[in-house]
Amino acid sequence: MAMQKSPQTVLITGASSGIGQGIAIAFGQQGANVIINYFGDEEGARYTLDQVQKGGGNGIIYQADVSQEDQVIQMFKAAVDEFKTLDVVVNNAGIQKDNEFADMTLEQWNKVISTNLTGYFLCSRESIKLFDQKPATGAEGTARGNILFISSVHDIIPWAGHVNYASSKGGILMLLKSLALEVAPKKIRVNGISPGAIATYINDDVWKDEEKRKELLKLIPYRRIGSPEDVAKVAVWLASEDSDYITGTTIYVDGGMTLYPGFVDNG
Ligand code: NAD
Repeated sequence: MAMQKSPQTVLITGASSGIGQGIAIAFGQQGANVIINYFGDEEGARYTLDQVQKGGGNGIIYQADVSQEDQVIQMFKAAVDEFKTLDVVVNNAGIQKDNEFADMTLEQWNKVISTNLTGYFLCSRESIKLFDQKPATGAEGTARGNILFISSVHDIIPWAGHVNYASSKGGILMLLKSLALEVAPKKIRVNGISPGAIATYINDDVWKDEEKRKELLKLIPYRRIGSPEDVAKVAVWLASEDSDYITGTTIYVDGGMTLYPGFVDNG
């Protein structure tokens, strides 16, 4: 992959673990300045920063709850105070609060929607305001800013027992496309990555259990569980000049999970 011509400044939400941490480290290896947002795990955020620096990047850690408007506004202010500008925002922070639908509490519903969907709205809105202030470069092949949405295969695959989560991810898909359309004339790009099964904390009850792992692999035609690095490599490319003509698109990083795996043996 071509290195960026000049180091980017990148804000990543939920970057103290899992996919967000992997993405932060990958941008660090590109020499980026990385704002590592975390919610409660300061130690995890410090580890991410250490790895970013070891890879040749620079960064800060910043605690904020992405579902809280005032905290998001302060976080973007802190990012600009530190690095003067922002080039890429990766919306990644997400949670699950699973329950059967009839038993799902309003709190479980609201918590997931406010983190996974409203959080993406708030961070994207602050990003657009900042990107909009940047001078138009006039050059071909250079966006004024890039927004990435880490969504999920459950933006298109229904998921019983996880209706709040799937609804939040389905919402992200239309947020992404509508926003991409609105800001494309401003030379701001908005794209998504929808991971399949990636081994992180969010699903460790599945991939750490041999039986459940076997069942999960049946849903993945490529027959392996993904890693945060699988997602991170795509994120770096999607925010680079090499992908400048792409906006409003979602890349499924899922080992074929969205290919109707039940039909793999001729149906
Ligand atoms: P993870 O639990 O390791 O990461 C989620 C991160 O979000 C954590 O660092 C957590 O602290 C942070 N977070 C939670 N609530 C927050 C809040 N209110 N404000 C700020 N940060 C908050 O799990 P992950 O797998 O790395 O998940 C990252 C993203 O990838 C999520 O959006 C998830 O839905 C998505 N995803 C993961 C998988 C997978 O298989 N792991 C598959 C599809 C999509």
